[in-house]
Amino acid sequence: MSNSKRSDNAPLNPQSASYEFLGPPGALAITLGVPVLTYVLFFTCNDSSGGCPPPVQTLYPSLAQALSDPAFWWKLWDPKAFSVYYSWYAFCLIAWAVLPGDWVQGTQLRDGKYQQYKINAFSTGLLALGLSTGYILRFGVQSFTFFYDHWAGFVSAALSMSFLQGVLWYALSFKEGKLLALGGNSGNFIYDFYIGRELNPTVGSLDIKSFNELRPGMILWLLIDISMACSQATRLGGHLTDSMILVLFFQGLYILDALYNEPAILTTIDIISDGFGFMLAVGDLLWVPFVYSLQARYLAFRPKDLGYAWSAAILAVNFLGYFIFRTSNNEKNEFKNGRNPKNLSYITTEQGSKLLTSGWWGRSRHPNYLGDLLMALAWSLPTGFDTPVTYFYVIYFAILLIHRQRRDDEKCEKKYGKDWDRYQRLVPYRIIPYVY
Ligand code: NDP
Repeated sequence: MSNSKRSDNAPLNPQSASYEFLGPPGALAITLGVPVLTYVLFFTCNDSSGGCPPPVQTLYPSLAQALSDPAFWWKLWDPKAFSVYYSWYAFCLIAWAVLPGDWVQGTQLRDGKYQQYKINAFSTGLLALGLSTGYILRFGVQSFTFFYDHWAGFVSAALSMSFLQGVLWYALSFKEGKLLALGGNSGNFIYDFYIGRELNPTVGSLDIKSFNELRPGMILWLLIDISMACSQATRLGGHLTDSMILVLFFQGLYILDALYNEPAILTTIDIISDGFGFMLAVGDLLWVPFVYSLQARYLAFRPKDLGYAWSAAILAVNFLGYFIFRTSNNEKNEFKNGRNPKNLSYITTEQGSKLLTSGWWGRSRHPNYLGDLLMALAWSLPTGFDTPVTYFYVIYFAILLIHRQRRDDEKCEKKYGKDWDRYQRLVPYRIIPYVY
């Protein structure tokens, strides 16, 4: 505890001083809304929904008919999907345990200690990809369409896992000696369950938060995209459209990049300051794989050919976004780990940390969000302009990142005080240089 910044008589786990997400009502609305929206995006946009979304006048009668049909409810509790999903989760756990990986330590915690992380998400991803490719080569593309065929069941399975984990880690956070998230100890059950009470739930040496962040959801997203491509190829007699290839390539690159750069997540807000509760569980396990794959799922049943010119333009948008995203995240990550290969300028705060003021972090306070947003746009463009639904991701993501930027600014304001004001004067733009 000697090198901790905490004064000796300050409590280690103070009660949270303020609410985010509009407090308990907001937390409850998101807790219920995220699962409902995930189902709605499927039931209002699939090959038998009669449009994407279907016209309003047909929506209510078809919904009423579906709800009164036992087959509809059966689809939600599909035992095959549940067993595949839970086996998948077990596979990720076993891969984490048996595949070799370096152990790295995260940033210093409030109690002066450091959390240790095993870095083998990339090899887990390659193993899953290798096994899936082998399976497809051996049994054909039509054998790998089960995510498409059992979609609603998989959504329920991932949702059940998210709830189980939310409840489990909330309950265990009351055991003595736990380090709580500063924002997750309000005393309100609904809010703390949602936002995450314990900072770093751990089983043996397994860090639950980083494990869920990159493995069972992110890698599953890639497998789901492959399953959507297999479904399209099955319909088109073995052929894939250029739009599906682009989506698969862009999202595959994003996912493999995140897995390969696993240590970079150790300086993100999720890992440094958020507790692990339902918000992160449902985000990692349900929302990422089953909502982010919407474009690929749409193209599976609405194939679209783009042509060279349109494909090249979309490729350019994606690579510009990827370049900004990767170089900015690398600049910060290197810097936080004590390296400054580009000799970027910075300010040293009274608190001890340093803040970059040149390079990408001198252009805006969240250049990485700009890169991410450009990529999000490039993932939706291949679906064309027949429906707004496939642009849901870009719109939702813009709202999420604007809100996240404000949350982070507030956090940094509290942490760095007048040094943050100084930094804001040097770097006035929030996300998009000269615009916002
Ligand atoms: P950042 O990686 O941007 O981390 C913010 C933290 O960086 C701040 O809290 C502060 O931490 C530190 N920091 C801020 N300014 C500076 C500076 N000038 N120099 C050095 N350090 C600084 O935030 P996120 O965790 O939100 O994002 C990580 C990545 O994940 C982004 O690329 C984002 O787009 C992506 N993301 C993707 C999502 C998705 O669903 N696909 C969802 C959310 C994020 P400290 O207190 O340590 O100084």
